[in-house]
Amino acid sequence: IRDSIQNHLYPLENVQLHLPVKAGDYTDFYSSREHATNVGIMFRDPANALLPNWLHLPVGYHGRASSIVVSGTDIKRPHGQMQLKEGEAPIFGLTKQLDIELEMAFVIGKENKLGHPIPIENAEDHIQGLLIFNDWSARDIQKWEYVPLGPFLGNNFCSTISPWLIDLDALEPFSVENPIQDPQPLDYLHQTGKNNYNIELEVLLNGHPISHSNTKYLYWSMFQQLAHHTVNGCNMRIGDICASGTISGPTPNSY
Ligand code: CA
Repeated sequence: IRDSIQNHLYPLENVQLHLPVKAGDYTDFYSSREHATNVGIMFRDPANALLPNWLHLPVGYHGRASSIVVSGTDIKRPHGQMQLKEGEAPIFGLTKQLDIELEMAFVIGKENKLGHPIPIENAEDHIQGLLIFNDWSARDIQKWEYVPLGPFLGNNFCSTISPWLIDLDALEPFSVENPIQDPQPLDYLHQTGKNNYNIELEVLLNGHPISHSNTKYLYWSMFQQLAHHTVNGCNMRIGDICASGTISGPTPNSY
């Protein structure tokens, strides 16, 4: 087999990798319990870190597809409004708090018609594969603007995806069971079997590892995310991207 394909192979250093998909729509979820809890502790009340809806539905918002770029693309530090001290007037300038978000994303490979939800037992058929997703964020811009409608200019200036889209079938050997969900989700989110993936994730900053995590820590599976996204009849189109939200884990090096 190797000889027969040899003529069709190119050395990696001689090729330029492009966007694997041109997304029409991009949705960002918030599916890591550890992450939602850590953010709740930092910004709100440690005793009530998770908001009341969090254990009942995969929280998400609609992102911006036009600014999704392939890994390796230079990005520009964004300008925006930020409030340096509470109670003071905002200033305009370059963000001082540019941040990354370690996420995985699934890509739609089969559409559903408007008004026709995707039942959770069919969700796998509608997902083509997975990407690595870095949702660049400007925390100071985000903090000033996000109430009451959520992420906007602090998040839509750029998201970076991997050039490789790994087919779900190829990930089958790495499938694992989801974390136990308590309380039991409503029926349309009820799933059985292995619905998560054991994929080790690592973040390097200038070559130095700063975080380790794993896709298997996600509380809400991508099948639950897709079933929830379409339960109101919202139609998905081929190439749409749904990101998981930051994937944190239970150990300090995955916070
Ligand atoms: Ca995000």
